[in-house]
Amino acid sequence: MLKLKSSSPGTTTLQHLASQQAVIDGLKIEEQVTRAQELWKTKSSVKGGKPAFDEVKQALIDLCVSTELCNYCEHNEATDIEHVYPKSFFPERTFQWPNYLLACKTCNTHYKLDKFAVFAPAKSATAVILQRKKLPPSTDAAFIDPRVDDPLYYLLLDITGKTFHLVPHPTLTNPREIAKAQHTLNVLEIGERPALVKARTDAFNFYQGQLEQYKNVMNAATLTDLEDLAQDPHLVDKNNTFAAEQQVMLNGLKQSILSYLHPTVWREMQRQHQSLNKTKRLFAAVPAALTWV
Ligand SMILES: [Zn+2]
Repeated sequence: MLKLKSSSPGTTTLQHLASQQAVIDGLKIEEQVTRAQELWKTKSSVKGGKPAFDEVKQALIDLCVSTELCNYCEHNEATDIEHVYPKSFFPERTFQWPNYLLACKTCNTHYKLDKFAVFAPAKSATAVILQRKKLPPSTDAAFIDPRVDDPLYYLLLDITGKTFHLVPHPTLTNPREIAKAQHTLNVLEIGERPALVKARTDAFNFYQGQLEQYKNVMNAATLTDLEDLAQDPHLVDKNNTFAAEQQVMLNGLKQSILSYLHPTVWREMQRQHQSLNKTKRLFAAVPAALTWV
């Protein structure tokens, strides 16, 4: 999980969201959750809803770090508009743009659901898991919101121990921050889901392989060298100059890194390269790659 970029839909769409939200906010508190669920289901069929939510979806795609990946697990296609603060506890945030991000079906409907924790009282270090049919005791989230927070401040990917688990960052000392990291991992279960662990391990090997290849292409001297390095020698255009073909290959390798699954693995390789022997050597050979994001 990485901090998302910034983006916003236009004024007309924000006004549409505000008008839907006003319907909910005008109701008695006990009626708000049911109405929020109903309005969310019909969000694209009400007047002005379709263009508004098409624009919301595009703005959410623009927030994504690389490709259209789930903002939580980075493994599956991001298909769902997810409410960071669940609408079943926080109906006042159902149509609030800052409360949205893109998640996959697995994260949204199998893991997060309406699970959430808040600090209560607010600003304290006591995290409370919300319970259905009870009003949340505060709005002080014990949950990492990648729209606002930098998840890598709270979490660490264990590469050096080779578990590829996401864990609370070992340098955290503030009890609130530790609780926030732990509750996020408890809710999403992104720390140790076996499919994610396997895919992160594969991503690590992929990134190292591409970086190694980048180094080799940088060190090539002739078009024949490039042909030897290319997976398919026919991709090297012998009518082009060596320098131009070399640049095409380097650009392709960089793009393949920046559009691959599990971008957190790449960021963690950059952050932790000093403690990873082979990765350290590769970054020493391709220092520019330390700034590729
Ligand atoms: Zn996911």
